[in-house]
Amino acid sequence: MKIHEYQARDLFASYGIPVEKSILCRDVNDAVKAFQELDAPMVVVKAQVHTGGRGKAGGVKLATNEIDVRKHAANILGLDIKGFIVDRILVSRAVDIESEFYVSYVIDRKSKSTILMLSREGGVDIEDVAHTTPEKIHKIVIDPLIGVPDYLARQAAFKLFDDIKQVRAAASILQKLYKLFVETDASLAEINPLVLTPDKEVKAIDAKMTFDDNALYRHPKIAALFEPTEEEKKEQKAKSKGFSYVHLGGEIGCMVNGAGLAMATMDMIKLYGGNPSNFLDIGGSSNPTKVIEAMKLLLSDKDVKVVLINIFGGITRCDDVARGLLDAFEQIKTNIPIVIRLTGTNEKEGRELLKGTHFHVAETMGEAGRMAVELVK
Ligand code: GDP
Ligand code: MN
Repeated sequence: MKIHEYQARDLFASYGIPVEKSILCRDVNDAVKAFQELDAPMVVVKAQVHTGGRGKAGGVKLATNEIDVRKHAANILGLDIKGFIVDRILVSRAVDIESEFYVSYVIDRKSKSTILMLSREGGVDIEDVAHTTPEKIHKIVIDPLIGVPDYLARQAAFKLFDDIKQVRAAASILQKLYKLFVETDASLAEINPLVLTPDKEVKAIDAKMTFDDNALYRHPKIAALFEPTEEEKKEQKAKSKGFSYVHLGGEIGCMVNGAGLAMATMDMIKLYGGNPSNFLDIGGSSNPTKVIEAMKLLLSDKDVKVVLINIFGGITRCDDVARGLLDAFEQIKTNIPIVIRLTGTNEKEGRELLKGTHFHVAETMGEAGRMAVELVK
């Protein structure tokens, strides 16, 4: 689960990581009021969206007067940043920057640990740094039993700073960030940039956190920070109905029983040159109510041109599934072509029942994939 910068900043502040005072705003007038309230010589107006790269997209602007605050707020609100429309901005006290650094804790699959990543080349070009000069990014594997004790924090901070005062300040931030990372079951805690000001203060001016969805049940306060996108709302709704659903954006809606079969079905569609609109595992049984719910979910996606139903009848018999589908589709009226592939127990009887109906019946997966892709065309 992702959260917004303003939410991550609050978490940083509650763990004692130095961040500037800021106010969340929904319109231009709020932004002007925030500027007055912050009473700072310079503020920064920042888009709040669930993606990085806001600076490069024009979503982060400095202002020293009301006119500029108004102008930047008006420009940033409504901006499309990588498909996310900005509906909120953060107005924050700005700082003068001498240099920008990169710091993050992330779960690393390779070392099966949390790793601390650090670089003296922080800021908006960190991706380029990682690409062209990876040696400038230091990685420290954290032993979960030891965590980040003083010596390690200091050793890490020396990767960023040479002056002992700055090293101490950074070491403390690294320890606090680790504590926050572990205590909230985060999968990412990133400060980019961590800055050194001309007064030699070390501060976080951006904050990014992502949390492990499977641990949210034990962090109700973090879970409450969830602000789903339209797609995520749909996925949540599907989850509450007992489906695993992931939106993918193609034109062939998939309804499958079993996660492995659902994955294979998506592969099959791709093989024949189509694009699955979703991953949907409706689980073991295929009773009509479940099929109706699943169909509603698929048909609510306006990009779906064809639906492919792929069912393996194991304990559930294919003839029962076929009857369930016929029942279900008496209640759902749709012009969208539906391809059905049934296999397993009583598959012949199942297919027999579907013959002569408006369904396109396939025997093999390959046939089903090919039919679905052709129907899209
Ligand atoms: P991102 O592009 O989404 O990562 O947004 P950031 O919050 O990291 O901001 C992008 C860049 O804007 C930073 O790397 C800074 O160079 C600049 N910036 C952000 N806040 C401030 C600030 O308070 N003062 C100054 N001088 N620059 C800032
Ligand atoms: Mn940033």
